[in-house]
Amino acid sequence: MSNAPITLEPGLYVTATPIGNLGDITYRAVNIMKSADFILCEDTRQTGKLCSAYSIITPLEPYHDHNAAKVRPRIIERLSEGARVCLVSDAGTPLISDPGYKLVRAARDAGIAVIPAPGPSAIMAALSAAGAPTDQFYFAGFPPAKQTARKKFFAQLSDIPATLVFYETGRRLGDSLTDLLGAFGERRCTIARELTKLYEEFVEGGFAELASIYVESPPKGEIVLVVYPPGEKKFSQLEIDEFLATALKNSSVKDAANAAAQSLGIARKHAYQRALELSKAK
Ligand code: SAM
Repeated sequence: MSNAPITLEPGLYVTATPIGNLGDITYRAVNIMKSADFILCEDTRQTGKLCSAYSIITPLEPYHDHNAAKVRPRIIERLSEGARVCLVSDAGTPLISDPGYKLVRAARDAGIAVIPAPGPSAIMAALSAAGAPTDQFYFAGFPPAKQTARKKFFAQLSDIPATLVFYETGRRLGDSLTDLLGAFGERRCTIARELTKLYEEFVEGGFAELASIYVESPPKGEIVLVVYPPGEKKFSQLEIDEFLATALKNSSVKDAANAAAQSLGIARKHAYQRALELSKAK
């Protein structure tokens, strides 16, 4: 297998690129990028770095949220004339919370071949190493930035019996975890940060515990939030204590204990006893 240029059939090649580690590119992706007539990308500087790493000299043309509607008809025209076009995004798989859906739809409607060249995506990297169940998962994209919309968004997802995967920014992570706690009750989750990069990190815990950390100090870098399905795992004493401590900030011992019993599935008597101890120790 080599990555020397090849002859491509005409069509739109939807090509995945690395999400951090430049080594995570397939031979086929490099071949397609070298052999296409031009590469559509979100940011020519960003894709330019990947191209120089792999000696790709194919012309780059911008295709992003701000110019897509304007340039799409001409791209479809060139594809209809037999062009071989490679679509990439800044990182990962195009169309996954990235531009490209309308282009793929328009190409299919025009009878043009659309060929996937699969590879990295932050969803799969996070799921493959977090340790959450993977038999069923639901990718929910980015939670809304505004709190009212975000609370409504989470409320609609609370009953899904599958692992949930979100993209989130470090700045909003604490707020999302707090709103998830409000919408779902307590659940386990994993914060998968800076995947495939130097400071890659997986942090696992309950919503209350992790919200209290990240509201205070928002993490840097890129984040995938993986939320375990309802009732998947029992909570440790430390997680129960974190939940009670958070609840006790704004509620009575009785209310905090009731909330813990309901959210964590623990005995009300045990929750009350522990809440009482914690409130006395404060
Ligand atoms: N199309 C990309 C893919 O297939 O993963 C996703 C693009 S979306 C605009 C960017 C978001 O993906 C980031 O805000 C973050 O939530 C997630 N992401 C991308 N790269 C990541 C990485 N290396 N580590 C963790 N999350 C990442």
